[in-house]
Amino acid sequence: MKYANSVVDLIGDTPLVKLNRVTEGISATVLAKVEYFNPGGSAKDRIATRIIDAAEREGKLKPGGTIVEPTSGNTGVGLALVAQQRGYKCVFVLPDKVGEDKRNVLTAYGAEIVVTPTAVEPTDPRSYYSVSDRLAREIPGAFKPDQYSNPNGPLSHYETTGPEIWRDTEGRVTHFVTGVGTGGTITGTGRYLREISAGAGEKRVQIVGVDPQGSVYSGGTGEPYLVEGVGEDFWPAAYDPTVADRIEAVTDAEAFDMTLRLAREEGLLVGGSCGMAVVGALNVARELGPDDVVVVLLPDGGRGYLGKIFNDDWMHRYGFSHPEGSPTVADLLG
Ligand code: PMP
Repeated sequence: MKYANSVVDLIGDTPLVKLNRVTEGISATVLAKVEYFNPGGSAKDRIATRIIDAAEREGKLKPGGTIVEPTSGNTGVGLALVAQQRGYKCVFVLPDKVGEDKRNVLTAYGAEIVVTPTAVEPTDPRSYYSVSDRLAREIPGAFKPDQYSNPNGPLSHYETTGPEIWRDTEGRVTHFVTGVGTGGTITGTGRYLREISAGAGEKRVQIVGVDPQGSVYSGGTGEPYLVEGVGEDFWPAAYDPTVADRIEAVTDAEAFDMTLRLAREEGLLVGGSCGMAVVGALNVARELGPDDVVVVLLPDGGRGYLGKIFNDDWMHRYGFSHPEGSPTVADLLG
């Protein structure tokens, strides 16, 4: 019989799929690593497993313990999924700007959520940061993963994402492109691919980070942007700035336009940071030739963004236009 012993065993080993339409005019091969195939729907399942395994090994998480983390998104889902399978409770602290759908996903997995006001200073005792610190201190047996500084985040990508890409491209990958949020993906995957390619006597794999315009990685000073999960206004410890050979800055408009195209033209319903990463990957691929193989990581699926990027009213409200190309029923009827 072919089955997994638990859903946790299905994390990782995500497929590569060639991009065929959005790559028009490009001679390099561009392959997307589609992380929504993870059971929790994102690359964050990988870090959740490694972080919880390490906390158990180091005695930071004991039977019946509680995981406390300020997160509203994919990391929460990954942690909730692994935690329930191992018998731990989860408490997530979220700012009140996080929408109902995202809250409901976390509670659906059995996590508890604590909602904090967005409009207070970080040092305010009601803030997102203060509340999660207090809960982690006061709940008996609490463990706070802290994805921004936990070395097991990047290590999970060093041990899984990197080797999968090297294996599946049979060592032919020449460029790895990924968005940067906590920096865990680029640090772990990038470091592995650099080391293995240099060791194999191949041309060293080039590592490219992609960042929303305004974020610190591409030289911004924290100006606001709408794409979620990537970019920072500070330098997290999970990010090793020596790994990237190059950083590409992408605007929200470019990222969202490509996100819509990936759904319509490649059949990939993915999140806004995926569109952003693909814009960066195509900028790189345009400079390359037919022997080059660019792998771009797509961190999550698009279902969490149906009310935003995939909603015409929302896009119009923020001043984004819709891509040309799809005929309306009126056009079809002449
Ligand atoms: N995209 C999305 C949607 C994410 O949730 C994250 C994680 N914050 C990233 C990209 C970036 O990954 P990393 O934190 O490993 O840099």
